[in-house]
Amino acid sequence: MQKETLIIIGAGPAGLTAALYAARANLRPLVIAGNQIGGQIAITSDVENFPGFDNILGPDLTEKMKAQAEKFGARIEYDEVTEVDFTHGRPFRLKTYSEEYEAEAVIVATGASAKRLGVPGEDELIGKGVSYCATCDGFFFKGKDVLVVGGGDSAVQEGLFLTKYANRVRIVHRRDQLRAGEALKARVAASDKIELVYNTVLDRIDGSGKVQRVQARSVTSGNVETWETDGVFVFIGHFPNSQLFQGQLAMDPQGFLLVDKHMQTSVPGVFAAGEIMDPIYKQAISSAGQGCQAAIAAERYLEALEAQALLAPQAGPAA
Ligand code: NAP
Repeated sequence: MQKETLIIIGAGPAGLTAALYAARANLRPLVIAGNQIGGQIAITSDVENFPGFDNILGPDLTEKMKAQAEKFGARIEYDEVTEVDFTHGRPFRLKTYSEEYEAEAVIVATGASAKRLGVPGEDELIGKGVSYCATCDGFFFKGKDVLVVGGGDSAVQEGLFLTKYANRVRIVHRRDQLRAGEALKARVAASDKIELVYNTVLDRIDGSGKVQRVQARSVTSGNVETWETDGVFVFIGHFPNSQLFQGQLAMDPQGFLLVDKHMQTSVPGVFAAGEIMDPIYKQAISSAGQGCQAAIAAERYLEALEAQALLAPQAGPAA
C-alpha cells in the first residue's frame, strides 16, 4: 500500500494545473494520468484561445503543462485507476492496474470522452475510417474525401484541420446553423475545401474493411441518399468520465460530479475539476482554472487537518 498526501486522477488541463499548484505548495502530488496525458487537448489540433499562446498544437501545450508541474515536484504515474473507496472516509483508497494507494486528499480530473453517433457500422469501422480525433488520424486521409459530423467548435475546428490533408471535407450538421463561434465560422467560409451540409444526419456507415459510403437523411424532407466517402469524423460532444465514481460521489443525471464553491465533491477531502464537473464552459482554460481552485482548496483542507491533529489532546500515560 503506497501512502500519499494528495492524488490527482487525470492529467488534462485540470489535472496538470492542479498538479502545478499542489506541487508549488510542497504537497508532492501524485498524478495518475490514465490512458491519455493531456486529455482532450492532447488530441486537439491548433489551440488558439489559451491565453499567452497565439497558436499552439494541443500535444505541445500538454507537454509544457506536464514539464511545468514536474519541475515543481509533481510525480506522474502512467497507470489507470480501476477502483476507488471514498465512502469509508480518510485515508481514501484507490487501486490501479499495478498499485494500491491511500491518500489524505484526492482531486478527480478525469475529464470527458467523445460521444458516438450510435448508428449501424460505426463501432465496426472505428480505426478503419471512423475517427474521433483529426490530429491522430487526419494524416491517413491525404487527398481523400471525408465527412465531419457535428456543428460545434470541435467539428468546425477539426474540419478545418482536416483540410490540410483531405481534398474535400463535408461538415454534416443536423440543424440549419452552426453552433460554432464566429471566428471559426469565418474560416470555414473562406475555405474552398469545406462544404456545409445542413439539416442532415447519418443513418448508417458502410464499407467492407474500411469506410466506403454512408446513408445520409435530410431531416426536413426525409430524403435518403447514399454518399461515397473515405472517412467519417464524429465531433458531437462529450460525456463525463464518471463511471468509476458511481455510488461514491454525488453526480447529476448526466454524470457530472456535483461540487460546492470550493470544488469539493459530496465527500469532504475529495475535490473535482474540469469537464468531469463542468457541463457548461468546457474550455481548456476554464478546466485549468478549476484545477487551480481544486488544488488550493485541497491544500487548505490538508492544512486544516494538520492543525486539528496538532490541537487534538495527546494520549498521555494512564493516571
Ligand atoms: P458541442 O458544443 O456540444 O457541439 C456538439 C455538436 O454536435 C452540436 O452542433 C450538436 O448539434 C451536434 N450533435 C450532438 N449530438 C448529435 C447527434 N446525435 N447527431 C448529430 N449531431 C449531434 O461540442 P463540441 O463542439 O465538442 O464543444 C464542446 C465544448 O468545447 C464547447 O464548449 C466548445 O465551445 C469547446 N471547444 C472550443 C473550441 C475553441 O474555442 N476553439 C474548440 C473545441 C471545443 P446541435 O447544435 O443541434 O445541438
